[in-house]
Amino acid sequence: MEQNGNIITFPERRQGLKVADLRSWHYMQVTCRHCGHTGRIYPQSLWRRCSMDARIVDVVRQFRCRDCGAGGAVTWDIWHINRNA
Ligand SMILES: [Zn+2]
Repeated sequence: MEQNGNIITFPERRQGLKVADLRSWHYMQVTCRHCGHTGRIYPQSLWRRCSMDARIVDVVRQFRCRDCGAGGAVTWDIWHINRNA
């Protein structure tokens, strides 16, 4: 899968992925399952707000949609920014 030259990374190890595994060239795209609102979350904000040991799957459960206010129901992927694009 590709988006503006960026590619999804860590497709095979989502369950164990931790905040500490993210790098500055990654971003997380989250989509609300209720209203379809999408947002990007950059590692810097997770590093500030979360424990480095926290698993991404647990972190996203605490998210609340900015549009519809629904919590805990997002789909997410980690994208790798392609600097050559
Ligand atoms: Zn929503």
